[in-house]
Amino acid sequence: MELAGIDITKEPMEVGPTTHYVMGGIRVDPESQMSTVPGLFAAGEAGAGLHGANRLGGNSLSDLLVFGKRAGEYAASFVNEKGLGDIDPEEIHKAEQEALDPLKRQYQSTTLNPYKLQFELQDLLQDKVGIIRQKDTLEEAHKEIDELAKKAELVAVSGDRQFNPGWHTALDLKHLLTVAKACACSALARKESRGAHSRVDFPDKETGHWAKHTIGLRKGEDGKMEIVETPILEIPEKLQKIIEEQG
Ligand SMILES: Cc1cc2nc3c(=O)[nH]c(=O)nc-3n(C[C@H](O)[C@H](O)[C@H](O)COP(=O)(O)OP(=O)(O)OC[C@H]3O[C@@H](n4cnc5c(N)ncnc54)[C@H](O)[C@@H]3O)c2cc1C
Repeated sequence: MELAGIDITKEPMEVGPTTHYVMGGIRVDPESQMSTVPGLFAAGEAGAGLHGANRLGGNSLSDLLVFGKRAGEYAASFVNEKGLGDIDPEEIHKAEQEALDPLKRQYQSTTLNPYKLQFELQDLLQDKVGIIRQKDTLEEAHKEIDELAKKAELVAVSGDRQFNPGWHTALDLKHLLTVAKACACSALARKESRGAHSRVDFPDKETGHWAKHTIGLRKGEDGKMEIVETPILEIPEKLQKIIEEQG
């Protein structure tokens, strides 16, 4: 039997794990989908908390429809009520400069390619913050993510602002590194296994302490990430009743 010109009865099929879904994300208010940054809304895979420690098949697309609608409606009424608010021109200028830096740097021996760093980060997360986790490799991942963050400040890209995926990758890097750090920090903090989080050094689910959310916060001038824990809210009575009625 042939598939794409390959006799699949003779050629072995390569099978490997890959990322299917991100359970974490930006923490939002469940009604409005607004984050703790006023005017910043998130829904879908960018938002956090809806699916708990693992997502049931099919629930992602219903999540997008329900919470995407809420986010859109609340974002529109936020702008209608408050306008765009006061934006500090100094902050805009700073963000603009930061965004243009990779284009201004000329390729030389000290500059780095953003794609190369992105691949390095992907390999690092696959190897050390992947499906099966443990303390020593998570600690190594922390250090290596910090090293990549320093290197990310030296990325350079050629071309200009138009249709420039290299530049987009350079801009994405900072955010990829933030998400990587949040994953590594919370995976190291959570000393149990639950849902899609599996620690070989803590293989069991531990409900005494760990029935909690872990939230990564960047604090202070150095932007160091800290993990705080918050309790999981109890299911409201009327929803609990529906769950019980559905069996
Ligand atoms: C293989 C696979 C199978 C799946 N099967 C199912 C299933 O059967 N049922 C189910 O419910 N779910 C399934 N899911 C999950 C579901 O498809 C995703 O969770 C969902 O599509 C996420 O939607 P989203 O809008 O949150 O994010 P996305 O669909 O990822 O949309 C984000 C968009 O933002 C754009 N973007 C990114 N960065 C920027 C930027 N800087 N500026 C502007 N735009 C940007 C991206 O290009 C993208 O278009 C599956 C996922 C995978 C990978």
